[in-house]
Amino acid sequence: MNYIELAPAYVRGIAPYQPGKPISEVARELGLPEKDIIKLASNENPLGCGAKARAAMVKALEEVHLYPDGGAYELKAALAKKWGVAMDSIVVGNGSNDLLDYVAMAYLAPGVSAVYSQHCFAVYPITTQARGAAGIKVPAKAYGNDLDAMLAAIRPDTRMLFLANPNNPTGTFTPYAEIHAFLKKVPSHVIVVLDEAYNEFLPHELRVDTTAWLKEFPNLVLTRTFCKIYGLAGLRCGYMLANPQVCDMVNRVRAPFNVNSIALAAAVAALGDDEFVQRTFENNRVGMRQLVDGVKALGLDYIPSFGNFVTINVGNGPAVFNALLRRGVIVRPIVGYELPKHVRVTIGLPHENARFLAALSEALAEVAQASMKD
Ligand SMILES: *Cc1c(COP(=O)(O)O)cnc(C)c1O
Repeated sequence: MNYIELAPAYVRGIAPYQPGKPISEVARELGLPEKDIIKLASNENPLGCGAKARAAMVKALEEVHLYPDGGAYELKAALAKKWGVAMDSIVVGNGSNDLLDYVAMAYLAPGVSAVYSQHCFAVYPITTQARGAAGIKVPAKAYGNDLDAMLAAIRPDTRMLFLANPNNPTGTFTPYAEIHAFLKKVPSHVIVVLDEAYNEFLPHELRVDTTAWLKEFPNLVLTRTFCKIYGLAGLRCGYMLANPQVCDMVNRVRAPFNVNSIALAAAVAALGDDEFVQRTFENNRVGMRQLVDGVKALGLDYIPSFGNFVTINVGNGPAVFNALLRRGVIVRPIVGYELPKHVRVTIGLPHENARFLAALSEALAEVAQASMKD
């Protein structure tokens, strides 16, 4: 029996997700000590996690022999209070990725389709294909979401549309007024997942309280995460806000204990740690300036970013990625996102940004020299 052929064709056709390279793996491959390697590859928080979340995790260890609260009461209560929504409008996930999968599980199947943009988060096409649904990829406009084209791509069989704002891996931002006008035109048989993983990094003047839109658009799903600004990527926790009927369907396919007890406790504490969020925001704002100025000084183009990362045109993404790796700096090649000339770099601490820029200058020279020899 061939266990590849036994799987449905749509599963066999999935291109696996390529995560950022872990520090431990690079250390093994290069024979470098882990402390000499920096990872700016997965949009993680360079400040670590907040003190309040850490204390809550330590306390939660006392009850780690018990199953977690499958209904996530405390976290949902804290989120309901923060956003002014009912608890039955909230579902908590093992990362927001979990929720993208569950919404797809609830609404996608063979014979229906989902719409997403070129250069979108890789999970959208993967989760669509995993359900046997058809993926409709809409060409990007200036690296970002082309809302008119996405609207035009909707078919009678379309059940979901994925929209990240800001988008990853491009960092592009679609003004909220445009998204609001778009939502008014999307047919009601299409569930729009507005993925706001980087929402908390937006400058205040660009922000809009999208949670207030849930009353107006019963087909809207908002996803948010504790893995980015809250610094809990390894713990895996995110949430979605949506109409109670959508949450009901998601809860039917959700694994009973999808979020662990340590993550639930840490997320509640993180939600109340405004000081840590503010400090992260500020580090990102200053670091973005530093990186962008450095990239310009090297004469490179970059895509202006509204997230905690910046995507830079280095000419040959994979070659520069490898040359940076040899210097102990891990970034993200994004060939799989149809951006072979670019690499994506997460904003780090000031000394990490400086080290990246110095390594980038050397890497560019090395790659240029190697290509002259060819
Ligand atoms: C990082 C990211 C997520 C969040 O994933 P988690 O599962 O919460 O870690 C979701 N969407 C986008 C676009 C992201 O970049």
